[in-house]
Amino acid sequence: MSNTVDDEDFADILAQVKQYVRTAVVPRETEIMAADRMPDDIRDAAAQMGLFGYAIPQEWGGLGLNLSQDVELAMEFGYTTLALRSMFGTNNGIAGQVLVNYGTDEQRKQWLERIATGEVVASFALTEPGAGSNPAGLRTRARRDGDDWIIDGQKRFITNAPVADLFVTFARTREPVKGDPGIAVFLVPADTPGISVGPKDTKMGQEGAWTADVVFDGVRVPDSALVGGAEDVGYKAAMVSLVRGRVHIAALAVGQAQRALDESVAYAAVNTQGGVPIGDHQLVQAMLAEQYTGVSAGRALVRDAAAKYVSGEDRRLAPSAAKLYCTEMAGRVADLAVQVHGGTGYMREVPVERIYRDVRLLRLYEGTSEIQKLIIGGNLLRDQRA
Ligand SMILES: Cc1cc2nc3c(=O)[nH]c(=O)nc-3n(C[C@H](O)[C@H](O)[C@H](O)COP(=O)(O)OP(=O)(O)OC[C@H]3O[C@@H](n4cnc5c(N)ncnc54)[C@H](O)[C@@H]3O)c2cc1C
Repeated sequence: MSNTVDDEDFADILAQVKQYVRTAVVPRETEIMAADRMPDDIRDAAAQMGLFGYAIPQEWGGLGLNLSQDVELAMEFGYTTLALRSMFGTNNGIAGQVLVNYGTDEQRKQWLERIATGEVVASFALTEPGAGSNPAGLRTRARRDGDDWIIDGQKRFITNAPVADLFVTFARTREPVKGDPGIAVFLVPADTPGISVGPKDTKMGQEGAWTADVVFDGVRVPDSALVGGAEDVGYKAAMVSLVRGRVHIAALAVGQAQRALDESVAYAAVNTQGGVPIGDHQLVQAMLAEQYTGVSAGRALVRDAAAKYVSGEDRRLAPSAAKLYCTEMAGRVADLAVQVHGGTGYMREVPVERIYRDVRLLRLYEGTSEIQKLIIGGNLLRDQRA
């Protein structure tokens, strides 16, 4: 479906993104953290570069990058505040991919080009109180009313909800039966009467990336809002978006870990105790070595998982293994980075303090570490028994 971007063109895109991240965003991390907001000029530049639609096929107005290319960009996005990636993450990823993979041509035409330019911000509204790790248990309902659907329910922790124009909304249309959790997905414009978005959540980290509750109270949408024109698309579409997203999140984790390592090496090389650079101590070198090894292993795993995803060789185990390993690794590397910095690492406005808080989320969303373990273990045993 997508026109593949060749290696030469991709090298240009990657170089441009790297330059943008390091010269336009890294110097403004403290400003973004303090204001809990992405500056408009950074958003405009991202839109100009096509970053709201880099993973959307070219025929729908995106850059058409495949997942192997996506992870190379994600490792760059991960080098700075994760709020940058979050700004366009739902458009390219969990929300946008539902339309890319399962939308009708009419639905893609209506939404994807504007999603790719950033004119429309799309949010992925799956999680609810009591339905996070197990979304099959969600309680938001959509019932038919003539030619329309009426949606009632509550979603929680929805990324970009405060600025969303479109909610890709998962709702139950029928009772679950074995093999069919009864979930459909709808395209719901954010200004539809009956939608209310709660105040933005106060989070541990990732300042500048916003989440909120979304309540649907008698929200009426036409039948054309049902993604793929079929009720049984919903759960599949969610799972397919999440699997791809896991490889992407793993790459972000590698980017954050690389940054934490670079900050640690730079700090250890010049800061002294008793006139001796702390990096001269072998125990500090051991921490750097552990960080470096984790980052290197993570990068290799991400590239391998992305290649297997693109070729179709493995879209089950490898994405979960990459997410599990890389997000846990980033947590450990960030923790060591604070340790290398001593008390300085505990202070606000020191990059590793922010990274320590920001990477914590990576082990939670798009499937917790425990859920990744269940997927990996479950699939291994299924394969053995097959
Ligand atoms: C900042 C942020 C942004 C988010 N953005 C979005 C978004 O845009 N869209 C969206 O739909 N959701 C979003 N989420 C929701 C996120 O995906 C869920 O929080 C996550 O899947 C975990 O679900 P939960 O919070 O309900 O925790 P729970 O599922 O209640 O998990 C609590 C604990 O129980 C464990 N657990 C649960 N079930 C099992 C099991 N079967 N076996 C073993 N252990 C288990 C978990 O691993 C975890 O340790 C976001 C969350 C956050 C915090």
